[in-house]
Formats: sequence, C-alpha cells, structure tokens
Amino acid sequence: MKKTAILLTILSLSFGCKKPSTSEVKQPQVNKFAIVIHGGAGTILKKNMTPEKEAAYKAKLTEAIKTGYAILKNGGSSLDAVEKTITIMENSPLFNAGKGAVFTNAGTNEMDSSIMTGQDLNAGAVAGVKNIKNPISAARKVMTNSNHVLLSGDGASAFAKEQGLEIVDPSYFYTEKRFKSLQRVKEKEANKTATKTTAFYDADIQNSKFGTVGCVALDKNGNITAGTSTGGMTNKRWNRIGDSPIIGAGTYANNATCGVSSTGWGEYFIRGMVAHDISAQMEYKNVSLKEATQNVIQQKLTKLGGTGGVVALDKNGNMVFEFNTAGMYRASMNDKGVLVVKIYKE
Ligand code: ASP
Repeated sequence: MKKTAILLTILSLSFGCKKPSTSEVKQPQVNKFAIVIHGGAGTILKKNMTPEKEAAYKAKLTEAIKTGYAILKNGGSSLDAVEKTITIMENSPLFNAGKGAVFTNAGTNEMDSSIMTGQDLNAGAVAGVKNIKNPISAARKVMTNSNHVLLSGDGASAFAKEQGLEIVDPSYFYTEKRFKSLQRVKEKEANKTATKTTAFYDADIQNSKFGTVGCVALDKNGNITAGTSTGGMTNKRWNRIGDSPIIGAGTYANNATCGVSSTGWGEYFIRGMVAHDISAQMEYKNVSLKEATQNVIQQKLTKLGGTGGVVALDKNGNMVFEFNTAGMYRASMNDKGVLVVKIYKE
C-alpha cells in the first residue's frame, strides 16, 4: 500500500503532474446572469428612518433593479442593463446622483460618472458636469463614441450635447433637502475652532450618507459591466473630482475576474484603487470575490481610514455587498428572479 503510494508520487513527479491551481479549477456557474446595485453607503440607521422613507428607498431600488433584470433576462447586454438601471436612480431625488445630487461649497451641483465593460476593458467617464441630465449616458457615449476615457466640465457637456443627450438647466438639480444639507454642513464648519478643523470635518463626513448609485451586471453572454454615478460629497470644493469617474477606484469590470462599483469617501477609494484592487486580488492571488472584497474593504480601506463599500459580482454570477459603514442601500437579483433589497447592516 505504502509502496504503491510512493510509486505513484514518483510517477506523477516524473511526468510533471501537479495539482491544478485554483485558477485552473473550473468554478461552478452560480447564475447565468445577475445584477447588483447600490444607492450609497453611510451612517444609515433604522432609528433615523421613517417607515415611509424606508419604503420609498426600497421601492426605487426595486424598480431600478427590475428594469436591469428584465433586460438581462431577455438576452440584452449588461451594458444596457447597467445604463438603464442607473438612469432610474439618477432620475430620483432620493439618491445623490443626477436629480438628487448634493451641492458643492459654491452652491453648485457637479456630477461624476463612469462605466466599464469587462469583455474589452473599455471604459468611459465624465467628471464635474453640471447640466447633463443623465451622466451615466454621457459616460457610455465617451466610451463608445470618442477616443477618450474621461471628459470633464464644459468639454464633457459639449460632447454630450453633440451626442444628442438631454441637457438641462443646472437648476434642475436643485432639491431643498440637499441644499439644506449644505447649509447644515457650512454652519457646523463656521462654528468649529481652528485647531479642530480636520477632526471636525472628518467626523462630519463620517456621519454623512454618501448616496452615490452604482450597478454591476453579468449578461447571458458572460459579459460584465459596471457603472457608477454621483453628485460627490456635500460641501466638496468646486471642481473636486471623486472616485466615481476614476476607472479602478469607483468602477472596474473584467470578464476574467469581476465587476465592482464603489461608494464612500472618494479620496480613500482613489488612494486605495479599491475597485481594481479587488479584481487584482482575484487575478493574482486566486481568491474568491468574497475574500477579495472583504480584504479590500474591511482590512485595507478601513486601515487607511476610509469609509464606504462596494457591490460586486464575478464571472460565475456570485454577488457580494461589502461595506464598513452602518448601512448601504443595496439590492440584487439572480437568474431565478430572487430579489434581495437591504438597507442596514445584518
Ligand atoms: N464616492 C463619492 C465621492 O467621493 C461619494 C459617494 O459615494 O457617495 O464623490
């Protein structure tokens, strides 16, 4: 018995047989298609929520994800599913994107958005745009109809107009709720002492809700698309650009690994290259999506001092929500039509 085992070992070594590495082991397909979304992470606590508000968020998340799900179910592309799903959230004042975008310190609304397709690593993004009704559509046009990846400000708006996208007066983005938030943050800032500046500002951001929207989808052809759209952070300096339009930070998609959309304190997501780091860990360390997102959000981002989270899915249709804040507006749907909608940490 022992002799046979030794003989087999010698044979396998001499014929170069080796245990297949994780990447060579075929992972079972969990879902032929799938979709996952977020509507922002932050200090979202049940005690601060009314049943009406909670129901409104859940209803909008459900409407958005079901739109993308129907596209995927009918054999449509993940690119279409992501754009349409995000458009619904951009058109709602509930989220910090499009219609509900937050205000800069100059009292303006400046939006960032990006999209990426995993089959060709193609990407498009816009930053600091003030009059494009749906920044996610502009990001898609930059990807498909220009030689560039990222357009900003007036140039991005001119391009969107040329492409036939809807341009609105900047006042379209005014909402009383967001304007009041800006006033509150400014008042707090005016009251703080010089020595407490950074700590105060940090605490204020930690306590705010980020509200960005994002979507990742896998279609029946195995193509992954990820997209993100935001108004940024309340009281940000005008012309500040966050992580959401930065490929590799706010958005990333690669058919060989996964798709990711981020939400949280953008500066940390840029420094940590969060979305790409998750994909890179899967590619180079052969870890699962769950392991990669946990490591990047709960270990690396947290250690850096960053707050927020991601939604992500891998090439086999496994979906993940990962965040280090009290809550994250989020939803997922698998190919059987099973819908999950959640807000708080569980
Ligand atoms: N990540 C966004 C930014 O920093 C904010 C958010 O996720 O709500 O611009």
